[in-house]
Amino acid sequence: MNLAVWVQRQGFQRPDDPALAEGERVHASWSDFARTASAVAGGLRGDLGLSPGDRVAIVMRNRPEYLEAMFAIWHAGLVVVPVNARLHQDEIAYIVDDSGARVLVTDDSHAELAEGLVGSVTCLQAVVVVGGQRWKQLAASPSCVLVDANPEDPAWLFYTSGTTGRPKGATLTHRNLLVMSLSYTADIDWISQRDCILHAAPLSHGSGLYGLPHIARGALSVMAQSGGVDGQEIASLIRRWPGMSFFAAPTMVKRLAEDPALAGADLSNLKTIIYGGAPMYLADLERALDVFGPRLAQIYGQGEAPMTITALSKEDHAAREGPRWEERVRSVGSPRTDVEVRVVDDEHRELPVGEAGEVVVRGDVVMAGYWMQPDATAETLRGGWLHTGDVGSFDADGYLTLRDRSKDLIISGGMNIYPREVEETLLLHPGVRAVSVVGKPDPEWGEAVTAFVVAADTDNPPSFEELDKVCLDHVARYKRPKEYRLLDSLPTNNYGKVLKRQLRDHLVDEAEREDRDPVG
Ligand code: AMP
Repeated sequence: MNLAVWVQRQGFQRPDDPALAEGERVHASWSDFARTASAVAGGLRGDLGLSPGDRVAIVMRNRPEYLEAMFAIWHAGLVVVPVNARLHQDEIAYIVDDSGARVLVTDDSHAELAEGLVGSVTCLQAVVVVGGQRWKQLAASPSCVLVDANPEDPAWLFYTSGTTGRPKGATLTHRNLLVMSLSYTADIDWISQRDCILHAAPLSHGSGLYGLPHIARGALSVMAQSGGVDGQEIASLIRRWPGMSFFAAPTMVKRLAEDPALAGADLSNLKTIIYGGAPMYLADLERALDVFGPRLAQIYGQGEAPMTITALSKEDHAAREGPRWEERVRSVGSPRTDVEVRVVDDEHRELPVGEAGEVVVRGDVVMAGYWMQPDATAETLRGGWLHTGDVGSFDADGYLTLRDRSKDLIISGGMNIYPREVEETLLLHPGVRAVSVVGKPDPEWGEAVTAFVVAADTDNPPSFEELDKVCLDHVARYKRPKEYRLLDSLPTNNYGKVLKRQLRDHLVDEAEREDRDPVG
């Protein structure tokens, strides 16, 4: 089944209902959306000479045409490569080249950058700027019949956000995305035609993926015009569009919960905030629940198993008085309907409840592999299981708690230390706004626990003695940082994930310098 059938079906059944909106304004009805998708598909095949299986990159900020282009690409039997529009030009060039995209669809603000790639990236033959002459021509092309797709055909090359190494294209098939969409309705929320999804986070990542079940069910897709997560705008869009859900990284949820524009706002139209992609700390979550009520659901997934490994439901969040609630909301929930999830040791033996090991996943949502990378694919999918690189453990009720990325684990004096636990502890101090804990190479300890701290009040940061005391009060002595460093902000990637690698690299450089030029 080709996923593009969803738009054609809605276009036929509910031609006049709104399908796409930009801010408060309707951009297209379902029949408009269906017509544009099939016409642009015709143009991509006819004018631009693309054949089924060819890749088309999209580098665009969130706007309705993003979804028109995406569904046109699928309609024509092509593969979409959504690229985060906030990446550096060289990073974009790398992804376009690696995916072998022949056409790049973009917007005005990236047109110059995109044109600059034609010639330097050899596979790239044409750039289409939405709203421009070529786009208008494509949209006026004779429509193309929906191209058949096999379930195994690639649909979306999802370039992993690259907090480690060069990004790789997780190849997501039509089946992967169909199963992901069905599983959303099984585990997160039922979606009705009167609902909508707001895209405040980039469509190239989680927001775009979770947009799909909404399109499948005929809900409206709304684009935030600010191009980001803006409390004032979100409050007014909630008033305008009922049944609203949106996806946000934990850092964005935290920001929104602190935004006065949302504090007293009428949230009766708000259905669900889906957060995930990085840990959400307990204190932040409690505050978000105070502001948004029982509307939060957490998901744990990765590009390789698109947004679908475990979930912590709205009901789990709401049961605040229940036993072990804190433990529950520190977890990432329980396995999704369509996957098997295990925690295994280095020999791939399943570990008992309470023991930490690598999280592995099997199911129809798991990617076909990394685009053109057979070795990395074989390594990651060994034994038929996706090796997530995350370390976690199950509790007796089947809830999974993530300790960390396996690469983030600190080994100090032979002891395993999960930075997240130390971070959670330091955040208990009211003077700490954000914190990231990493290992610094150390001749005596192997690695020394180092905490990068952002103070809530930069003029009056907490003293290191106070921070030490919070650690001593809550975690084993050996886990407490040997060193604290104050920063104005933590380095994050474009999806709001803290770039621990950058902090670690900085410490490694420093240790090397100290080795070369010992002090004293
Ligand atoms: P990406 O493929 O860029 O979405 O990154 C996926 C990684 O983000 C996962 O392997 C986890 O390490 C992390 N992650 C995703 N969801 C969560 C979550 N709910 N809590 C903690 N970490 C998460």
